[in-house]
Amino acid sequence: MSDLYSRHRRVMPDWLALYYDDPIEITHGEGRHVWDSDGNRYLDFFGGILTTMTAHALPEVTKAVSEQAGRILHSSTLYLNRPMVELAERIAQVSGIPDARVFFTTSGTEANDTALLLATTYRRSNTVLAMRNSYHGRSFSTVGITGNRSWSPTSLSPLQTLYVHGGVRTRGPFAHLDDRAFTDACVADLRDVLGHTRPPAALIAEPIQGVGGFTSPPDGLYGDFHEVLKERGILWISDEVQTGWGRTGDHFWGWGAHAASGPPDIVTFAKGIGNGASIGGVIARAELMNCLDANSISTFGGTQLTMAAGLANLAYLLDHDLQGNARRVGGLLIERLRAVAAQVPGVREIRGRGLMIGIELAKPGTDEADPQAASAVLEAARAGGLLIGKGGGHDTSALRVAPPLSLTVAEAEEGAAILEEALRSAYS
Ligand code: PMP
Repeated sequence: MSDLYSRHRRVMPDWLALYYDDPIEITHGEGRHVWDSDGNRYLDFFGGILTTMTAHALPEVTKAVSEQAGRILHSSTLYLNRPMVELAERIAQVSGIPDARVFFTTSGTEANDTALLLATTYRRSNTVLAMRNSYHGRSFSTVGITGNRSWSPTSLSPLQTLYVHGGVRTRGPFAHLDDRAFTDACVADLRDVLGHTRPPAALIAEPIQGVGGFTSPPDGLYGDFHEVLKERGILWISDEVQTGWGRTGDHFWGWGAHAASGPPDIVTFAKGIGNGASIGGVIARAELMNCLDANSISTFGGTQLTMAAGLANLAYLLDHDLQGNARRVGGLLIERLRAVAAQVPGVREIRGRGLMIGIELAKPGTDEADPQAASAVLEAARAGGLLIGKGGGHDTSALRVAPPLSLTVAEAEEGAAILEEALRSAYS
């Protein structure tokens, strides 16, 4: 066991539960693999909760970061900054939002905080709509729009939040409905909530819920929501912290699966864009971005060092069509896992798209969540040389598969074989 185990409580409060009975200390990585302090090699199907977007130790990113580090790490957001402007320009180009402006932060939490600041100021309302089972961050305001109780440690929020149905289909009152009926029921729920509230500033939603277990609504649901919101001038914030940058394969942004009604008003991003460097940010049209009437900066958002990482990483992603790779390799992986699911009784559902795949577990013969099995599969996969994640609602009953987007077919097959073994052993 790593000597860090007994020491880590010095830096992490008791509310943080580490993965694994014998927690892993990762020492280095390469491509889709990482190594621990005992020299074990793992195929990485979690990418450090999706923070490694392209590949570990990607030479292009390493070179850009080292060269930038040799020049300057950071000056100030009050001076001109070339890498920051260049990354903002590239993100605006791929954003799908007309007249897009970008504001950089250091994390997804801070990106969502900023989106809330913009939306509530623009609409002069602190009422916000959010999805049941959502996760949007750990600051005071983002905890207040997080519907997943296991990740929302206080109810003392500066916002009035109203939660609506739609993010989760696996269990719940509308689970038995087909796509169209499910969407209609959720739109009716939204209209009902809107009929009994002050005018909200915005609705915030993850197109595929991340922490919530990679659950997703039928395609088009948020587009139908958007029509209702537009009638009332309510803004749509799409939290793309996990779904952005082509991970879902079919679309560059998760909202693309819902887009008939046009793009969201505000998009937030983080995680993968820096390939591990701390970048978050908000994209919004100029009118929204400019609605604040006093100075507001992030000292560390947009440092030269992280922007250099983001530029090199995004260029690699686009030049190598990793969105297409996510679609192709993710499609194969989903197919392979569905075949396994048909044979292992506790695997209730394989869901998701591209390289964002959720595996929902239930106690065999029932619809009851099975968190013990999820933990057992996590441990067994690790023993087989594979890292995956867990997620879900109040019961952490889903496994999360989100490898770096450069995953090869051979690696997908290798990982699927280890997962199959782990699932079988958990239910044997
Ligand atoms: N939004 C979503 C959808 C997330 O998954 C996360 C992180 N898990 C966040 C926001 C918060 O990001 P960060 O941890 O960078 O603050």
